Amino acid sequence: MSYLQANDVAKRFNGTSALAGVDLAVEQGESLALLGPSGCGKTTLLRILAGLEVPDRGDITLEGRTLTGPARFVAPEQRRIGMVFQDWALFPHMTVARNVAFGLGRAGDSGRVSETLDLVGLSHLADRYPDELSGGEAQRVAVARALAPRPRVLLFDEPFSNLDAGLRTRIRADVAALMREMRMTSIFVTHDQEESFVVGDRVAVMSEGRIMQVGRPADVYQNPASAWVATFVGEANVLSGMATNGHVSTAVGEVPLAGTLRGPCEVVIRPEYLVVGRGDQGVVSAVEFYGHDTTYQLALNGTKLVARVIAAPDFAPGDRVSVSYAGPGAAAFASASH
Ligand code: ADP
Repeated sequence: MSYLQANDVAKRFNGTSALAGVDLAVEQGESLALLGPSGCGKTTLLRILAGLEVPDRGDITLEGRTLTGPARFVAPEQRRIGMVFQDWALFPHMTVARNVAFGLGRAGDSGRVSETLDLVGLSHLADRYPDELSGGEAQRVAVARALAPRPRVLLFDEPFSNLDAGLRTRIRADVAALMREMRMTSIFVTHDQEESFVVGDRVAVMSEGRIMQVGRPADVYQNPASAWVATFVGEANVLSGMATNGHVSTAVGEVPLAGTLRGPCEVVIRPEYLVVGRGDQGVVSAVEFYGHDTTYQLALNGTKLVARVIAAPDFAPGDRVSVSYAGPGAAAFASASH
């Protein structure tokens, strides 16, 4: 049994399904990213874990004990599950120390506050007011406030989405590192694939109230459970082809396969595994140069493709090019039969 579990959790709102029977297992000390498009049920699942919402079916257990179930419901404040929301707002009229003490409610003691500030490396800022903090420091204080009651699990609901891009990449790395250092069991909800890969030891990919795949970021990226997962976690060309003997023949030639599939299939080709050269197979329709790499939009006999190369552009729109595959065994899925 895992540290925190959701078992067959279902929830409908006014007849609309938000969660359609979700199983999720989180190990002690791990950071799990819950990734999915807007409206797929991430927040509902988080709120059910915290006890802020009651499911129609299923149960939640922590350390083997039922928190939510048909015959038992532990109140949110007794779960020792902390929540950090998108709006991290600190109280402007309170010092850092008092903001952290606030997380402790009436039981707050100064020993616990200084211990927590120590833990997140903010002791030297205890007497400052929020408007005397940098954005990164303010986020750390907000995390300290959630950590002060010593939660067993910390839940983050889109915690970085209000930050501008530069601050966001820095702060999410900082908070994720802190959670790992502390071996804090944590769940980060996000709709941003890149963010989920940075903060999650594992990523759970959700769609329409279901979990489609759970795995380490590299596994989900390289071995997606479906073509939908493939396109949701990063860019992917999904080409149809015919699989035989570990290969599939496609518009870009022979592509090695990761599995042993045979017959008509859809194969997932990541843009970075396509090689673009001088030739006569297709035509460049657009070029985007990002500095660290270049993407080409290509058309090959009616098939549209995107290729990414680590180089400045060698080709311009209208140029004729060759395209081939140079990558590891690709994921493929049997074509839906007609
Ligand atoms: P996400 O966090 O992935 O964006 P949510 O869990 O917020 O998704 O929502 C899942 C679905 O449930 C959506 O269709 C949403 O509109 C619906 N929903 C969520 N909360 C409520 C509510 N309190 N009342 C009615 N519908 C809700």
